[in-house]
Amino acid sequence: GDALAVSARVAPLGSRLVLLLVEDMTEARRIEAVRRDFVANVSHELKTPVGALSLLSEAVMDAADDPEAVERFAGRMQYESTRLTSLVQELIDLSRVQNDDPLEDSEPVGVHELVAEAIDRCRQSADSKQITLASSGAGSGSANDLYVWGNRSQLAAALGNLVENAVNYSPPRTRVGIAGRRVAAQGGDLIEISVSDQGIGISERDKDRVFERFYRVDPARSRATGGTGLGLAIVKHVAASHGGEVTVWSAEGQGSTFTLRLPEAGSARERAEEEKRDR
Ligand code: ADP
Repeated sequence: GDALAVSARVAPLGSRLVLLLVEDMTEARRIEAVRRDFVANVSHELKTPVGALSLLSEAVMDAADDPEAVERFAGRMQYESTRLTSLVQELIDLSRVQNDDPLEDSEPVGVHELVAEAIDRCRQSADSKQITLASSGAGSGSANDLYVWGNRSQLAAALGNLVENAVNYSPPRTRVGIAGRRVAAQGGDLIEISVSDQGIGISERDKDRVFERFYRVDPARSRATGGTGLGLAIVKHVAASHGGEVTVWSAEGQGSTFTLRLPEAGSARERAEEEKRDR
């Protein structure tokens, strides 16, 4: 009788344990698969420009007595090496945001500075397409006092990527708007920085996937604008490691709005200090 009672009590516990173990293994297997995919993707992405460079250098040698051809091939070599450089740089950025603890090097960062920096970085490509970069709420007047808590260079990279995408995926003579505002939330105020464009938009199906490493809706288009498919993965990682998030709203053919939500400097710092005191 007793034994039966005990086994009846242990059995559900046992099955729950088994279930936990199975879930753990599935998660481990998933992480392993993601890692393997990533390595395969990196290899593939590197192979393309490296392969092109090798073919082009052969072509240059074969065309030694045709200066026009040499110039043409050299131009394409330059293009491929630029691609290679930006891919390697983005891989370094990604590994940095994945490995460094942003909060170790955190400080209050002015939203107006982040916005100004992002606009500076994208000014040239915006001008060449006659795209207007307009900031509101973050650049002047009363909203000059918006501060987020975090790692300055990581936050600048994240916002820069969003503005760069907005310019890249918009037709000429459109507008890209960058706005900052404070929103009340449970556990302290948040700062919202949104980047809106009037570009090609993103379908419902692709909306979540664009944050994956190397995912592009249209690889040819991404490549044409120098994209690597890593930008939004970096943004997502930076947002999450700062205790925030990035979301997207979009209507195909009409435009997209990416919104970064980050803890406000004041409240985030107070919380961190409270935790330190409690320890
Ligand atoms: P990429 O280097 O290709 O721009 P990202 O990770 O920054 O890589 O973005 C992934 C994909 O998401 C892009 O290839 C593009 O298809 C889509 N995307 C990103 N931003 C926008 C935008 N503002 N409008 C439309 N599509 C976008």
